[in-house]
Amino acid sequence: MDKRNVRNVRRRKHLRQRRCIQYVAGVLLCCIMAVIFYSGFFMGCSWGKTIGPEDTDMALDTWEDTVCYNAQWNLILVNSWNPVPDHYEVNLVDVGGGERVDQRIYDPLMEMLEDAREANWGQLPIVVSGYRTKERQQQLYEEKIAVYRKQGYLEQEAEELAQQWVAVPGYSEHQLGVAVDINGATYDLYLWLQENSYRYGFIFRYPGNKTERTGIAEEVWHYRYVGVEAATEIFEQGICLEEYLENRNL
Ligand SMILES: [Zn+2]
Repeated sequence: MDKRNVRNVRRRKHLRQRRCIQYVAGVLLCCIMAVIFYSGFFMGCSWGKTIGPEDTDMALDTWEDTVCYNAQWNLILVNSWNPVPDHYEVNLVDVGGGERVDQRIYDPLMEMLEDAREANWGQLPIVVSGYRTKERQQQLYEEKIAVYRKQGYLEQEAEELAQQWVAVPGYSEHQLGVAVDINGATYDLYLWLQENSYRYGFIFRYPGNKTERTGIAEEVWHYRYVGVEAATEIFEQGICLEEYLENRNL
């Protein structure tokens, strides 16, 4: 091999090495860009806003929205102005009596019911209504309207009256699986729950003095899981979930 050939071989080797380095650098750059993009995306989620009463027609059509909402699953607002999100999914677990709840609230719920025994003549309070499908909500709604119709109210009046007690299908917290109706042996149970439920992450969702904000007449039996942090703030400030979320969005 003469000198020129040796130089050519070296040059080709050098070129191959340079291409190899450029390729590795390119792949590394792509990885770094991907990490930056996704960390930014998830940070955006955790700081994402929660639906307030004024955001009634916020659509949940994108995957990003779904991820964000799941990240704040315990604070999803469902009331007369905010429907159950389209892509909402829930894993259910049995709580007896044919009722089911979101598995994430099972432990705090059971702990609360167990601790409430002493205020309930030693009996374990019962969950009489947990998760509901939209069809079940529709059935309850129609039954309530029928009751008022029987009392002589016109269709529209009967609907308006029913809505004070039973949420319109698609607008019930029960469809989230994080709300329960609790039955006790004595009314004392409800007084105990009003004072203590926040320790377990539950709130007295429809107090009589907040009907205008919640859209629902007082329901002493209905409890909603929001997590200990939010429940404590709601309890201490004497506000309802709508007001709590509004304050957070300010
Ligand atoms: Zn209820």
